[in-house]
Amino acid sequence: MRFLVTGGAGFIGSNYVHALLSGAYPGFEDVTVTVLDKLTYAGRAANLAFAAHDPAFTFVRGDITDGDLLRRLLPGHDVVVNFAAESHVDRSIHDAAGFVDTNVAGTQRLLQAAVEAEVRTFLQVSTDEVYGSIEEGSWPETDPLLPNSPYSASKAGADLLCHAYHRTYGLDVRVTRCANNYGPRQFPEKVIPRFITNLLDGRRIPLYGDGGNVREWLHVDDHCRAIQLVLQKGDAGETYNIGGGAEMTNLELTERLLAAHDAGWDMVEYVEDRPGHDRRYALDTTKVRGLGYRPEVDFDEGIAATVRWYADNEAWWRPLIAHRRNGLV
Ligand code: NAD
Repeated sequence: MRFLVTGGAGFIGSNYVHALLSGAYPGFEDVTVTVLDKLTYAGRAANLAFAAHDPAFTFVRGDITDGDLLRRLLPGHDVVVNFAAESHVDRSIHDAAGFVDTNVAGTQRLLQAAVEAEVRTFLQVSTDEVYGSIEEGSWPETDPLLPNSPYSASKAGADLLCHAYHRTYGLDVRVTRCANNYGPRQFPEKVIPRFITNLLDGRRIPLYGDGGNVREWLHVDDHCRAIQLVLQKGDAGETYNIGGGAEMTNLELTERLLAAHDAGWDMVEYVEDRPGHDRRYALDTTKVRGLGYRPEVDFDEGIAATVRWYADNEAWWRPLIAHRRNGLV
């Protein structure tokens, strides 16, 4: 079976490709994988170094908005898994245009090329942020999309295009909407690796607003396992929430990360809140649990392993935070 994984040089995509090629998913031991990635600031060839000499692996540097490239590349692939996206909310607030280009137009180009190439299944990797913010309870997949940031709005647009391509062209499209991920190889602009790398460096950590925002944290391996399960057992045209991780406020998250570094609250700097900052995300995961999904990674163990990974892989992240030493962030 031939997989095309877009955005495979980023955080979640590289963890997914690693699992796929290392035989972590029973029944998929004989896959070949093509990664298509533009290698933006967030995508790094080094994230795929483990696969460089694997004959089952091919890397193509390119853009999912490039329709001609997609028309050449997609034929012969059975499955497309679309991770490619601009993914950082703060950047989308600063400049939304690239988010609409990649996340909306890019997904449409990919869907179109998948129809033309008669790809068997297309899996769109989406986010819980498309639902907006919820004070109490949790969202089932049928809840309305009420995104609050340009990032989440662009992802919601892509979700709707996926639905339309299923209804209009009969493409087998499945959408997964996952909670916040953590784990190795996450770009250090995101809160967990940002806090870890700052603390490893003896620098203070910036906490937004009152720290009361609630997020659910899921280890990247659990997210990737769920994606594979939806490919195996999910249905065409369906959307699946993926969560079941640890729900906590940013204050609680900060407390745990400080403890992991033997650091105190004097290392925390309260900074002005992000505009439109969603207060709480919470997913109802009944549907994906019905496919047999269970998260496997305990948060405390997962976070300890993630801290160890950043401590052991300074050469990976230090060049990415060089600008912080120049006082820019
Ligand atoms: P990331 O920013 O680490 O990786 C994105 C990858 O996409 C990079 O390798 C980048 O080079 C590539 N890319 C960007 N624009 C491209 C383009 N036009 N053409 C080809 N490649 C392009 O992001 P991530 O955290 O790994 O997220 C992957 C996907 O999962 C995204 O779609 C995101 O919306 C979704 N998601 C992320 C989380 C999370 O917590 N990180 C949670 C739920 C869903």
